[in-house]
Amino acid sequence: MVGEARAVHESSAINGLRVVMLGAPGSGKGTQAEALSERLGIPAISTGEMLRDAVSSGSSLGRRVERILAEGTLVDDQTMADVVRRRLAEEDTRSGFLLDGFPRTIAQAESLEKILGEAGTRLDRVLCIEVPEDELVRRALARKRVDDRKEVIRRRLEVYREQTEPLIGHYRELELLCQIPGDRPVEEVTEGILDALLEKA
Ligand code: AMP
Repeated sequence: MVGEARAVHESSAINGLRVVMLGAPGSGKGTQAEALSERLGIPAISTGEMLRDAVSSGSSLGRRVERILAEGTLVDDQTMADVVRRRLAEEDTRSGFLLDGFPRTIAQAESLEKILGEAGTRLDRVLCIEVPEDELVRRALARKRVDDRKEVIRRRLEVYREQTEPLIGHYRELELLCQIPGDRPVEEVTEGILDALLEKA
């Protein structure tokens, strides 16, 4: 399906989607979240970006998390649950959202279920963008960001494997998981995701 027909179909069939994006650092999940946000008209919420903004603004949250971000380890679950709870209370998330970077632990996934449950909603889909390890490292090194030094990149990948990858099994059990091959051009990945979302809409 292409062009206008697709746009109409997208807006009617995939309305009010609540989506979690999973994927290793460098998988392109942030890029895809932005592209999908535009196509679907729902906000992309990047917890990494929210934390980096907090660091730049010098807020008390920013001062607390600055070193953790520089090290490439994880901010504690309670802080993250508070950040996400506040963000999901905002008006623009009523018609759905794409969460990029949260949850990153099983405890965070449980917090998210609780936050949504209290609001009378739940997740519709979890998209996991899959990219081979050597490609992840290549991409990460090509990106220029303050916390993207080589050992930090390696640490972030380790943290992902240890703490975040268990979420794949968690969401598979809940029958929310949709695995997307991410080792191809950006636009093709976006189309692949939209196809997967439409199939199950
Ligand atoms: P990202 O832009 O998603 O790669 O996030 C950048 C950094 O922010 C991570 O390496 C973590 O230090 C922190 N961060 C972002 N989201 C979370 C989260 N859900 N839980 C813990 N730390 C997070």
